[in-house]
Amino acid sequence: MLKVEGLSRMFGGVEALVGLDLQVHDGSVLGLIGPNGSGKTTLFNVLTGVYPADSGRIYLRGKDVTNLKPQQIIRHGVARTFQNLRLYHRMTVFDNVWVAQHSLPDVGLRELILARRNPERVRREAVVAMLDVTGLADHADQLAGGLPLPQQRRLELARALIRSPDLLLLDEPAGGMTPAETADMAHLIRHIATPNRTCIVIEHKMELLSGLCQQMCVLNFGRKIAEGEPQQVLDHPDVLEAYLGRSQSRA
Ligand code: ADP
Ligand code: MG
Repeated sequence: MLKVEGLSRMFGGVEALVGLDLQVHDGSVLGLIGPNGSGKTTLFNVLTGVYPADSGRIYLRGKDVTNLKPQQIIRHGVARTFQNLRLYHRMTVFDNVWVAQHSLPDVGLRELILARRNPERVRREAVVAMLDVTGLADHADQLAGGLPLPQQRRLELARALIRSPDLLLLDEPAGGMTPAETADMAHLIRHIATPNRTCIVIEHKMELLSGLCQQMCVLNFGRKIAEGEPQQVLDHPDVLEAYLGRSQSRA
């Protein structure tokens, strides 16, 4: 599904990604971990065309998609969520998903709101079904900005899912959540990570990743330091060092 070869990206003097090689097989879930600033979000940004790569290639189903524009990447069946959430706070939950459904670049926001008045029943039903799946049905008419964080993260997920992506990139979907909220989110992600959907999940919380991902990849200072089955990866000396070294320097 996804193959990354020698991907690099610098920001000024910072090596955010360095020669990253990665392969994610059809229908599998890859857990992407690493200390803060290790390049995880940058990988999503380069994969989705937010930032061009300095070097390296990205292949989707064998097709070279390196440095395509974000809207072109969407058309290749890629959707993502954002660590810092990108919602329309003054729009309702329903409309946030509705707008995401029409994620074509040439359709303006105004046209979308007008289109909602037309009998686009099928699309409405798809949005209603998505709100059901993500547990947001009771909040459909609430403003997104007024939702508590866990529901906002669910809404981010709903906005990504409504495009039926083949490749779904989740950036810390349980960020800022309590253990109980994290467990609910883990349950939801397991439900939507269907066999015909490939996922990469960035998350610090192992209780979310365990039982979800078949493979894990660890970044540190933009470089891959380990990959493989989750338990092997978590026991890897370089991984322990990357995390312990970090917590020691914090203390
Ligand atoms: P992670 O998601 O693993 O915490 P990031 O990918 O966000 O890490 O960041 C990796 C490094 O790249 C960090 O040092 C960060 O400060 C830097 N970086 C990321 N995005 C930018 C940007 N737009 N401008 C400047 N530096 C950036
Ligand atoms: Mg990040």
